[in-house]
Amino acid sequence: MAAFILRKQKFSTKNLLCIVIIGLLYLILAQRNAPRYSNNDLRPSSRNNSHSNWPFNIPQQYDQQYLHEWNEPIKVNVSNPSDRGEGGSAFYPRLDEKELMKKLRKEHNYNAFASEKISMRRSLPDYRFPECRSLIYPNKLPTATVIIVVHNEIWATLLRTVWSIIDRSPRELIDEIIIVDDASTWTHLKQPLDDYVKTLPANIKIMRTEKREGLIRARLKGANVAKGNILVFLDAHIECTDGWLPPLLSRIAWNRSVVAVPLIDNIGIEDMKYRTLPVNMNGIHWTLIFDWSPLPQREIIRTKHDRTAPIRTPTHIGCAFAMDREFFFEIGSYDEGMDIWGTENLELAVRTWMCGGSLEILPCSRVAHLFRSSTYSFDGNKNEIKVRNNNRFIQVWMDDFKDYIYAAFPKWKSIPTGDLTERINLRKKLQCKSFRWYLENIYPESAWLKPFITMGTIRNGLHNICLDAYTMTVSQALIPYTCHGEGGAQFFAFTVHGQMMTWRLSCVGIQGKSVVLVSCNEDDKYQQWDYNKEKHWIVHRESSLCMRKNQTGIVLDTCNQSDIEMKWEIVSNV
Ligand code: UDP
Ligand code: MN
Repeated sequence: MAAFILRKQKFSTKNLLCIVIIGLLYLILAQRNAPRYSNNDLRPSSRNNSHSNWPFNIPQQYDQQYLHEWNEPIKVNVSNPSDRGEGGSAFYPRLDEKELMKKLRKEHNYNAFASEKISMRRSLPDYRFPECRSLIYPNKLPTATVIIVVHNEIWATLLRTVWSIIDRSPRELIDEIIIVDDASTWTHLKQPLDDYVKTLPANIKIMRTEKREGLIRARLKGANVAKGNILVFLDAHIECTDGWLPPLLSRIAWNRSVVAVPLIDNIGIEDMKYRTLPVNMNGIHWTLIFDWSPLPQREIIRTKHDRTAPIRTPTHIGCAFAMDREFFFEIGSYDEGMDIWGTENLELAVRTWMCGGSLEILPCSRVAHLFRSSTYSFDGNKNEIKVRNNNRFIQVWMDDFKDYIYAAFPKWKSIPTGDLTERINLRKKLQCKSFRWYLENIYPESAWLKPFITMGTIRNGLHNICLDAYTMTVSQALIPYTCHGEGGAQFFAFTVHGQMMTWRLSCVGIQGKSVVLVSCNEDDKYQQWDYNKEKHWIVHRESSLCMRKNQTGIVLDTCNQSDIEMKWEIVSNV
């Protein structure tokens, strides 16, 4: 713009003044738009609260006696850098190891052989975004109790978890590590574990449940005796990386009602390789199994494209998170009525948001989790236990949206929840907001906010055959399948825009004349349908063709009143 002014007008003092002012304005604006964390000059040695460039400083009223000075942990090279798995790399077996490796892979649902072979103190690179490394956190922070609950974990996997905490956390900030052995049957988790932890350079306490309690009550057992001001819950198969702890503690000290979640990376189940994952958000949908969803644009804008900024997330996975200890209990800790495994992560997340707290991912804190499906017994009917936990969550927190869940899983309704009085009273006492408020304000991307016309199963006229999306793979054809009355893959939700949504949030579309699964896109006219109630047709809007069952699949064909295979009945479960 300055060049334009110079060319167009005669040079004068007035113009010069104008240019100077514009220049100054430009400089001021540029400064304001500069990244918030640009202060690279501060060395750790000059770190104190006034020098911290972390934007969320600890409020003055925070009780100073709970704050402790800390130093970065000293990096020690304890493993041989050329060993397998070092630097977070993949494990490769030798020829003579392959057979045993295969056997253990099958037994444990992950490469337990590799885990035993790589160092319990393997090196890991600093995976943080470069911007994170120049952040300087407050020089005094509250201390943490780390709680690890465990049921039958491989020795090296558990101890790699413990070592990663010891080696990569400031000593002054870990009050204790509590390992709660939840009635494991594997003997290495008894005396050998007791003996081993005594040799470790950390205050480690082992607690044991008298009988199998499940991860929820096991975590509570640890939380009830914790001394640290902040509770950090970790699974027994994770690896903490450089700098993982201070962001979590700093954020909670700034605001005690934040539940702080690290960015979760992935330890490969085939090769134990550390793989970083992108910053994602976690949502909630019909299955009540956590899912990843891409970071929405609104959150990227809110955080001004700053990759170090805390991300507000509707739910979390549950394998790693930190909370102020008092706040944890004030807000209802966990639902003690939940057994073994499942939905406690959603319950805590939704309750936190609805009752006045928040749940945030701290992208500068990275912790990797081994995403293996568990092999342990549930000490009872696995499905029933999971559904019972689901029901406890659904019936206390989901208000009328519970109908959506029971439309997709009609049989869940009959599984008893046990006494819910205490949890319902808790919600009243805390004056928590509604589930709709939660969806609208915290999770506006939720499919549940769509205007639905009906939801249920879609039955083919003459037969006991239902429309079935047996797979969640996009492009896969839908199939006709015996109606089983369990919803799930036979559940479809019709929106006013003509979308037919499945339980896994894909939509019904077409590929040529075949009816297939597609990624939902409200504007895509090829995935819009109308249900003609009188004729029992499902009509593809764009082509005006009707959905028809043939021997093997579902196709589009010219609508024909006398064609029985074109008649569909929507059995609404709501
Ligand atoms: N766990 C437990 N008791 C149980 C089930 C699980 O203490 O009855 C522990 C388990 O060892 C792990 C944590 O709880 O440290 C979370 O369980 P898991 O990793 O199986 O859950 P996922 O990560 O697969 O959801
Ligand atoms: Mn886990």
